[in-house]
Amino acid sequence: MDGKEITDALSNVKDSYFNKDLITLGYIKGMSIGDKELRFTLRLPAPLMPNHEELAQKCRDALKDVNGLENIEIKKDWEVQRLPALNQPNTPQALTNVKNIIAIASGKGGVGKSTVTVCIAEAFANAGAKVGVLDIDVYGPSIPNMVGLGSHQLGGAQEGVLEPVEAHGMKIMSMGFLATKDTPVVWRGPIASQLVQQFLGAVDWGELDYLFVDMPPGTGDIQLTLSQSVPLTGAVIVTTPQEIAHTIAEKGLRMFQQVKIPILGIVENMAGFTPPGSEEIFHIFGEGGGTSAAEEFDLPLLGQIPIRQDLREAMDNGKVFTNDNIDSIASLIAVEAMAVVTNEELSPFAPQEINLANDGETLVIKWQDNVEHVISAFNVRFMCPCAHCVDEITGEKLVKETDIPPDVKITESVPVGRYGVRFTFTDPSPGAGAGIYTFSFLRKLGEDAAQNSSFDA
Ligand code: ADP
Repeated sequence: MDGKEITDALSNVKDSYFNKDLITLGYIKGMSIGDKELRFTLRLPAPLMPNHEELAQKCRDALKDVNGLENIEIKKDWEVQRLPALNQPNTPQALTNVKNIIAIASGKGGVGKSTVTVCIAEAFANAGAKVGVLDIDVYGPSIPNMVGLGSHQLGGAQEGVLEPVEAHGMKIMSMGFLATKDTPVVWRGPIASQLVQQFLGAVDWGELDYLFVDMPPGTGDIQLTLSQSVPLTGAVIVTTPQEIAHTIAEKGLRMFQQVKIPILGIVENMAGFTPPGSEEIFHIFGEGGGTSAAEEFDLPLLGQIPIRQDLREAMDNGKVFTNDNIDSIASLIAVEAMAVVTNEELSPFAPQEINLANDGETLVIKWQDNVEHVISAFNVRFMCPCAHCVDEITGEKLVKETDIPPDVKITESVPVGRYGVRFTFTDPSPGAGAGIYTFSFLRKLGEDAAQNSSFDA
């Protein structure tokens, strides 16, 4: 079989995140061409990439017309790339085999920064990545409790080497391990900064794909010390939905911008509460803070996490908490981190235009590659990805077609960060309008709609 024909076909497949083809991006590895068969590995530079499956399918489609090709085997795997700046000689020895350091920060305490750190880290660990968590929240190191290591204390460190503790498939090191119940540790200012530096140089992390750092809240010495001691892949900012939280988060954003640390995006935590048995969302901590901060600073809104009792209980009891929503946030962090590491520009996913036609009964999207999709408002409403409409844990659809008014219309579409859009529907039911439609999700809806209409024709 003709190898050139095969690589030509594959060089037509583009990764929608980078808007480059798979051959140029180096994703195709170990190609072996037989008589009638082709084997290769589709190796992405991060786990949890949201489009892994889609890319494999696009490869199959592109190879459909290659003469004589009867059997295609595509192995899917990933290998995390190292932030090149970590290869500098002044990187602490302890980080020799660490590929990415990602800080999780917030403007103030109590917004769920540690919770988000643990959940995201677990999502990566569950996906098979080697993950470490460093808790330097000196004001209240809460990671140990959240991973079931509440009573752990560091044993005598040998020759200045600290061994991280294994929990939930991750390596954990916390300033909390230095405290006891009777001697809470209160570090301030320079001492805390010094400790952070010692911590960075002394923990024997071994091999890690990602080291997540739970930062103290605010913008003080410690944040600056960390930013200046090691190259970070980036920072994730956690905020609650109040407008005031947004103002506080802004300070953090500016600090990271000043020290030239890429901000990977914003996670809005405690976004609404739905009591058991009810369908109504109560916006206990306000609404829209993460969204408006993302818009104002042109940053991706990586996702929203509602207030959930099971999440709080899991954290209090040191249990693992996972769901599709957390995975989706982690996958967007993976994409953003990958863009920093590979220095590839992320393609603007945002469609060129989103228009409403037929008085809002039809959504018309024109994408960057000039493809145009027409989707009925009914279908957009029916496919709503929010927790009212889809069970977050099982992925089961909760909304029924019969629940939705057949003549439902979209009255408004509002952009959300760099990844998505939110719609307002004429449908008054609780789920309507609650979900963020990511652009990749809308693209898929559009492609499905195009396929169905071609069947109809
Ligand atoms: P921070 O690190 O910002 O100080 P924590 O992660 O320690 O905040 O969270 C503070 C408290 O709020 C914890 O008891 C945690 O379990 C709880 N919490 C955080 N996020 C949520 C959520 N989405 N739903 C319910 N409880 C949450």
